[in-house]
Amino acid sequence: MIIKEQFKRLVIVAYRLPFKFVRSKDGYKAIQNAGGLVSAILALSENFKKNKNTLINNKIVWSGFGDNMPDAEKIENEHFDIVPVKIPSRLNDQFYGGFSNDLIWPLFHYFSTYSVMKKNYFEAYQEANTLFCNEIIKHIKPGDFIWIHDYQLLLLPEMIRKKIPDATIGFFLHIPFPSYEIFRQLPRPWREVIVKGMLGADLIGFHTHDYTQHFIKSVKRTTGYECKQNIFFTPNKVVKADAFPIGIDYEKFHQAGYDKAVLKEKDKIRKSLGEQKLIFSVDRLDYTKGLLSRLLGFETFLEKNPGWRSRVVFNMVVVPSRDSIEKYKEMKKEIESAVGRINGKYSTLSWRPIVYQYKSLTFNELIALYDCSDVGLITPLRDGMNLVAKEFVACQLENKGALILSEMAGAAAELNEALIINPADNNEIAEAILAALEMSSQEKQTRAERMQNRIASYNVFTWAHDFFNQTYEIKSQQEIMRVKFVNPAITAKLTAAYNEAERRILFLDYDGTLVAFAKYPELAVIDDNTLKIVRKLTSDPKNHIVIISGRGKDFLEKQFSDVPVTLVAEHGYFIRKAGEEWESTISADAQWKETVMPILKEYVDRCNGTFIEEKTGSLAWHYRNADMDFAQLRLNELRDDLSEIIRHKTDFEILEGHKVLEVKSGKYDKGQAAAVLIAMEYYGFILAAGDDKTDEFLFQAIPDFGYTIRVGLSPSFARYNVPDTDSLLTLLQTLMK
Ligand code: UDP
Repeated sequence: MIIKEQFKRLVIVAYRLPFKFVRSKDGYKAIQNAGGLVSAILALSENFKKNKNTLINNKIVWSGFGDNMPDAEKIENEHFDIVPVKIPSRLNDQFYGGFSNDLIWPLFHYFSTYSVMKKNYFEAYQEANTLFCNEIIKHIKPGDFIWIHDYQLLLLPEMIRKKIPDATIGFFLHIPFPSYEIFRQLPRPWREVIVKGMLGADLIGFHTHDYTQHFIKSVKRTTGYECKQNIFFTPNKVVKADAFPIGIDYEKFHQAGYDKAVLKEKDKIRKSLGEQKLIFSVDRLDYTKGLLSRLLGFETFLEKNPGWRSRVVFNMVVVPSRDSIEKYKEMKKEIESAVGRINGKYSTLSWRPIVYQYKSLTFNELIALYDCSDVGLITPLRDGMNLVAKEFVACQLENKGALILSEMAGAAAELNEALIINPADNNEIAEAILAALEMSSQEKQTRAERMQNRIASYNVFTWAHDFFNQTYEIKSQQEIMRVKFVNPAITAKLTAAYNEAERRILFLDYDGTLVAFAKYPELAVIDDNTLKIVRKLTSDPKNHIVIISGRGKDFLEKQFSDVPVTLVAEHGYFIRKAGEEWESTISADAQWKETVMPILKEYVDRCNGTFIEEKTGSLAWHYRNADMDFAQLRLNELRDDLSEIIRHKTDFEILEGHKVLEVKSGKYDKGQAAAVLIAMEYYGFILAAGDDKTDEFLFQAIPDFGYTIRVGLSPSFARYNVPDTDSLLTLLQTLMK
């Protein structure tokens, strides 16, 4: 494994500390528990140790809730340095038991009727995430890679980012991210805190492409941030979201089947099975795992296939989990009563159809059961990934078994040679069981080998490697953006140039540059403070201040009624110098409007929330208040429709701006208007600031010695970027000091 140079130490932050603590000679020893994430990180840690070339050669730090930590000076572990976070038990009940497990867990698994929304849960969640943050920042060193895991810590990335702006932070969600229609059931302010919390990371990982898309949509709808090719443009940095389907330590599982102890275990199982075929499942006790409907599916199978009775046994292992909670207790009872009922109905003196076990398995037992199974029956109603499915596949050595897998498990995206079923449909489960039992060994072998190849190559190491590398990539992209950010050195250079010049011209775009966007254009009026800054700029006789906008002339005139600025309206169609009359720069008759207006009206009808703004030389279709994904679809269609007409007529063109498509007369733009003004005098200092695609024409018209600034993070012809309007206003004030 090659880890990029800048990451020196791996810091894992997860709710659970995966250790048991046992007394040793001089203190305590920490022993890792088994489980999805722990096995992944443990495998990684072993790999780091084996591979002397790796640059992460320090011990991995693991931070988590330290409820089970003994009160001891020294706790030894060969792989990890342990950083416990203390959370008072009442707070933990509301943070972990409450917000995490009574709200996020059911909601994100689409069990919204189970989710409990309480204000004090949310407050506890914020408080506990803060406790994590406060503890972790005490231990962070430069070069650390902080990898935060799962749904209990959604707010932590942003909290750490605020304290350590340069930190490298990855976040991985191990459960599904639900569709926006589910996510939006959360109260509005919580939604925003959650997505912004996650966006504090540099890279956000999910198990599948679908979860990533759901997240992207939720961010867009909640914050309005732009996202291109999985990269968000947040106000102060770019953040990437992508799919990283977690893998298993394939070799460990595959090879374990040849282990002596496991071979012995397999013998034992085979002896007790005799001629019977084995169907096997193992899950934690949870309503997401579809245990009851699995039993009903098996019952349907027995009912419809009497010939298979007494020839097959279903070993259902349920691993104890959260069973002190009422909901889980009830579920356990229901499962046990269904097992009793089915066994009661079909058992004979010599045969019991279901062997139900409520217990944990040892690693050897698990591997042996996987390999001895003829059918793996894995049918969660929802599951972020489901590692059991992958482990089952990895362990098929001698007797290649068939896998039946729920389409609702993240693993189904990779294991498409499994028999994929709808876990809520008894009949489909029953039919799949029959198909699996009757499948030829040749077919089972082909299917198993294809899946084995795939999970052997994208294993847990590849998974982690991929995650590290993509974090590295996004960090490099941030660096490129940062080089362009106006920093103190650039501000000093700009100020010096400003002070030196005898005559200066400053082009300032209006919307998104001087004034933040509003729901409707007429609501985006200039505030007193901004107006004061513009007025102060004009009070210096060396300055020529130009407000250059796509807005109509009446609106601009109203905003700057008594300020001596030059106004450029409608992207350069009209220019008005201070104290003079408006002049139009081109003579176009705008005949085209008669053709275009009905088309735009049709799109207003076809896309709710959009509206038309009419100006002298243009018509604008605004879609900022519409559903962004739907509007994007309509936008593409509209662009096509208009391009078709443009091919035949040439007296108008399309201009695309921030959530607006504009059709305007002729070939004028902000760049041409700026060039006319620049040519009128000699200016020793030129500055242009804008936030939109239409301002790119302006930036291109500015001579090389000028200063061009794009507000926001988008890639641009501008030499520099500032994150938002406030930063631009601060910069303008600094110039005048
Ligand atoms: N597992 C375990 N003890 C057992 C049986 C299974 O620790 O008695 C492991 C199993 O090997 C797998 C994990 O528990 O690695 C379950 O992961 P999965 O993603 O299938 O489900 P989760 O419990 O994380 O929802």
